[in-house]
Amino acid sequence: MDPVFLVALIAAVLVVAVIIVLMVRRKAPSSPDAPMTVETDRSLADRLEKTRRALGGRLKDLLSRGPADEDFWSGLEEALIAADVGVVASTRVVDRVRAAAPDDVEEARKALHDELLATLSGKDRDLHLTGSPAVMVVVGVNGVGKTTSIAKLAARLESNGSTALLGAADTFRAAADAQLRTWADRVGVEIVGGQPGADPASVAFDSFQAARSRSRDVLIVDTAGRLHSKHNLMQELGKIVRVLEREAGSVDEVLLVLDATTGQNGMAQIKQFTDVVGVTGIVLTKLDGTAKGGIAVAIEQDYGVPVKFIGVGEGVEDLIPFDPTEFVDALLADA
Ligand code: GDP
Ligand code: GDP
Ligand code: MG
Repeated sequence: MDPVFLVALIAAVLVVAVIIVLMVRRKAPSSPDAPMTVETDRSLADRLEKTRRALGGRLKDLLSRGPADEDFWSGLEEALIAADVGVVASTRVVDRVRAAAPDDVEEARKALHDELLATLSGKDRDLHLTGSPAVMVVVGVNGVGKTTSIAKLAARLESNGSTALLGAADTFRAAADAQLRTWADRVGVEIVGGQPGADPASVAFDSFQAARSRSRDVLIVDTAGRLHSKHNLMQELGKIVRVLEREAGSVDEVLLVLDATTGQNGMAQIKQFTDVVGVTGIVLTKLDGTAKGGIAVAIEQDYGVPVKFIGVGEGVEDLIPFDPTEFVDALLADA
C-alpha cells in the first residue's frame, strides 16, 4: 500500500475518532437518558452570591477600617442583622468576637467566622430513615418549594441507591398532583395520588400501603400548602401524620420547608408547625434568591431545629445537605 495513502488513512481515522468523542461528550449532559446526577459544579459561594455580596461587601468595608472603635462593633451587628442572622444571634456573635479582642483585621475576620460557625455546630443534620419503608412528610405554607424539594430529595435518595415512592397528599390545589407527577417522571420514581378533593390522610394511607407492598425504601409525602393560621388545615396535617404513624409505627422525618426570601417572617411558621406536628428538620429554600441567607443561623439560634437541606436553585441538583462550615465560608467569601 502506498505509504502516503496509509498515513492519510490513519490521519482521517484519528480525526473522525476525535470528532465522535467530542460529540458524545458534548451531548451527554443534555441527553434525557443520561443518569440523573445531583452533583453540581457551581460552588456554594456562587449560589449564595446575593448574601455573600451584601454581607461580604459590608464586612469588607468595616474590616478595612480596622476593629478598633465602637462604630466597628455596631456596624458589624447591623451587617449581620441585615443579612437576617437575627437580633439574638447577631448580638451574641458580636459580643463574642469582641471578647476575643482581635488585634487586627485578619483576627477579627477569623473570630467572626468561628463564632458564626459555633452557633451552627453540634446539630444532627442527617436524615434518619429507619422504617421500612421509611416515612418522610413534607410540610409548609404555599409556594415555599415543598413539591420541588421532594423531587430533589427523591433524586438524591435514588442516586444514593435507595428507592423512593412519592405520595401526592396535596389534593387541594388542582394542579398539585400533576406537578408532582411531572417531577416523578423526570426523577424516575413512582407516585401515588388521589382524586382532587380526596381526604389527604387517605392518600397518605394509600401511598404508604403501596410503598410497603412494592418494597420501596422511602415514602415521601407531599402535603398542601397551608397557612399556619388556618386551624382546621393544621388539624388536617396532624391527621396525615397520625395516620402514617399508626400504619408505619413512626414517621421518620417531618421536614418543614421555609422560603429564605421571606426572612424573619418565615420564622413564625416554625412554631406553628412544630406545635401541630413534630418537625425534625428544616429545608431552607431559595437561598440563591436572597441577600438574607443568615436566616439559617437565626432559625437554629431561636428554635434549635436543625436545617438539614438548603435549596439553591430550581434544578433537580439544587438541593444540598446543609454544611455549616461550607456555608459560613461561603457567607464570608467576600469579606
Ligand atoms: P410548594 O407550593 O411549596 O409545593 O412550592 P413549589 O415546589 O411548587 O415551588 C414554588 C416555586 O419555587 C417553584 O417555581 C420552584 O421552582 C421554586 N423553588 C423551589 N425551591 C427553590 C430554590 O431553592 N431556589 C429557587 N430559585 N427557586 C425555588
Ligand atoms: P376561607 O378561609 O374561608 O376563605 O376558605 P377558602 O375559600 O380559602 O377555602 C375553603 C376551604 O378550602 C377551607 O375550609 C379548607 O377546607 C380548604 N382550603 C382552603 N385553603 C386551603 C389550603 O391552603 N390547603 C388545603 N388543603 N385546603 C384549603
Ligand atoms: Mg406543592
